[in-house]
Amino acid sequence: MGYPRGLAAFSLEGKKALVTGGNRGLGYAFARALADCGAAVAFVGRDGEANSSAVGSLKDQGVLAYGIKADLTDDGDVDRAVDEAARELGGLDIVVNNAGVCFHNPAWDATDDEWRQVFDLNVRAVWKVSLAAGRHLREAGGGAIVNIGSISGLIVNRPQAQAPYNASKAAVHQLTKSLAAEWAPHHIRVNAVAPGYVKTEMAPVDRPELRRMWIEDAPQQRYAMPEEIAPTVVYLCSPAAAFVTGAVLVIDGGYTVY
Ligand code: NDP
Repeated sequence: MGYPRGLAAFSLEGKKALVTGGNRGLGYAFARALADCGAAVAFVGRDGEANSSAVGSLKDQGVLAYGIKADLTDDGDVDRAVDEAARELGGLDIVVNNAGVCFHNPAWDATDDEWRQVFDLNVRAVWKVSLAAGRHLREAGGGAIVNIGSISGLIVNRPQAQAPYNASKAAVHQLTKSLAAEWAPHHIRVNAVAPGYVKTEMAPVDRPELRRMWIEDAPQQRYAMPEEIAPTVVYLCSPAAAFVTGAVLVIDGGYTVY
């Protein structure tokens, strides 16, 4: 059997990819990077205008992506979005479960609604999208799922309290390993990426009161930009990662070494 050599091992040429939460932040960078490496890409977001503007700005950068308006906490929307992506792209080989939400609130003050929103999107939607899209991957003879976990699934962030989010990301890591075990016979690889702090709408990395514990406490003493996480997602989706499944790849500038 021949193995791809050099950069060919990282090529996604001919692959069809679905990214959740692709209209901004990390998901936008993932959509662009997957397309840059050859994949046809569809992404999901709730905000139709944000989707259109992301499609437009990607187009300006030479990337064709298809935006799908859907709320992934709604089961009907999950099925519709996955079907639409598979129909538009002509199948699915890659799924990046990226959409997520976080609230900063001490446990005593966290509301039931916050808990519900966090678990419905960060965990349940990952489960539902994986099942709906996984069927297309199985039909294709295999594929790759990458779930966006977090260092919050491994450590407890400071100074902000975010217990439901931390618990949800630990669940993402364990769901990743469980599906990797079950779906290996179908040649579906399931991995997670656990980023440290990345500058997006979700993470207010520039706030002075967070600087000591978010930035100065980390060996590299900086946050990342989304483009620095995207190549790892490409890698996990590519032939270069053919023997990688059930992994949680930490990309955090060394944050979790202490
Ligand atoms: P952002 O808040 O910037 O982006 C979230 C994306 O998810 C948006 O595109 C949003 O679009 C979409 N989204 C939110 N809710 C839903 C929903 N119900 N259905 C469909 N799409 C939805 O977040 P980040 O880019 O920072 O985070 C992306 C992932 O990375 C998350 O899982 C997060 O937990 C994780 N992460 C982030 C870190 C960071 O420091 N930023 C660190 C570690 C992990 P719309 O609002 O239009 O629906």
